Amino acid sequence: MRPDPTTLLGYSATLFLIFGLYFTVSEITHGKRRKAFWYSSPFLAASVSGFFFTSPSVIPGLWGLRLGAVFMTLAYGLGWQAIRTMLGRQTCLKTVLMLCMLSLAVSATAASTGTLHVASSVLRMLIITGFHFQVAQDLFYSSRTRTSAERLLLAVIVVYTAIYGTLALLTDALPAPLGSLPTMVWAIILYNLLVIIEGVFIALAMIAIPRERLAAEHHLLTLQDPLTQAGNRRAMTIWMEQNETSSTPYVLFLLDIDHFKAINDCHGHTTGDQVIIAAARSSQKILPQSASFFRIGGEEFAVFLPFIDTCHTLNIAHRLKAAFTQDVKDIGDGIIEATLSIGADIRHSPETSWLEVWQKADAALYVAKSTGRNAVVMGATETAD
Ligand code: GH3
Ligand code: MG
Ligand code: MG
Repeated sequence: MRPDPTTLLGYSATLFLIFGLYFTVSEITHGKRRKAFWYSSPFLAASVSGFFFTSPSVIPGLWGLRLGAVFMTLAYGLGWQAIRTMLGRQTCLKTVLMLCMLSLAVSATAASTGTLHVASSVLRMLIITGFHFQVAQDLFYSSRTRTSAERLLLAVIVVYTAIYGTLALLTDALPAPLGSLPTMVWAIILYNLLVIIEGVFIALAMIAIPRERLAAEHHLLTLQDPLTQAGNRRAMTIWMEQNETSSTPYVLFLLDIDHFKAINDCHGHTTGDQVIIAAARSSQKILPQSASFFRIGGEEFAVFLPFIDTCHTLNIAHRLKAAFTQDVKDIGDGIIEATLSIGADIRHSPETSWLEVWQKADAALYVAKSTGRNAVVMGATETAD
């Protein structure tokens, strides 16, 4: 059985119509009219193109085929705009419309054969290649980290940029719609197949990418403390698991604001919150990039710092304490006085478990609290400022 090109074109037009309607309904349901328009428009344009290709005789002369070709070019241009919308970038519809009008104007002056006809086909392929190139560029330079669906989409677009670029070079050697020679069944089928495969990839990627991004954002939120934006206890557990076998020596600081309950009681919970934020900010200001900082409870924080030597460690701990006491003075009318107690312990090698280090740092913090607070204790030894 030989495949019937008209039936195939009809199937692809229907498929694109379904994708177009899916994006319209799903985005409007979520109240996103702008996205509904941009996401569905390339598929609807491709569907209109398919209609003209399957029924070119609805308009006299070559106009059915011309409109089919220009709607296909428009579909690619709108696809570029859909990707830009998805990446949160401005659309550039004017450029797309101008290029499509130019393509239509050239094809309108061309007959079904001849130099102008070849030029018209080359121009159309070049415009489509350009649209693909722009999509690849937008995806490549998209500042966010790419999801797996974005990486796949980029790969597909790069391959299609190469395919359309090659077709532009081979236009006068290939039958339409791949080139400009008189059409042949295999060329229609191959072109149709190319368009369907790409359309399905793009549609699936456009469905998957926003979902993947949302999942990644949610995952990040589950690891973040909403008050200070520092990593939370869950993030710290993951960090410890990831560094379980690390041979880098680390020092663990446990930070606890002194008499915090009294700050809450005297100045109110909102001021108390600001003191917690100040503790996170001042710590992050002092700590080097290599340190990992977490809020592990109400007014308690943990810091993992690559261990250099005791002198460096104590210097940082005392600077953390001093910066906090200084920074809380900026809160409200400047009457808040608050101090930090810090318990510290070193993990020299992965043979020592994080639990052991934690217990020792906690015991050191207990010593700092029980010997008057506003102190740094390392191991079981209190250290002077
Ligand atoms: P110590 O010097 O021994 O550490 O005493 P403390 O008062 O700092 O410690 P305690 O554990 O008795 O009190 C901690 C208080 O922190 C109790 C709780 O109401 C308060 N707290 C916990 N989370 C928050 C928060 O997110 N915001 C505010 N404002 N207060 C909080
Ligand atoms: Mg506490
Ligand atoms: Mg406390």
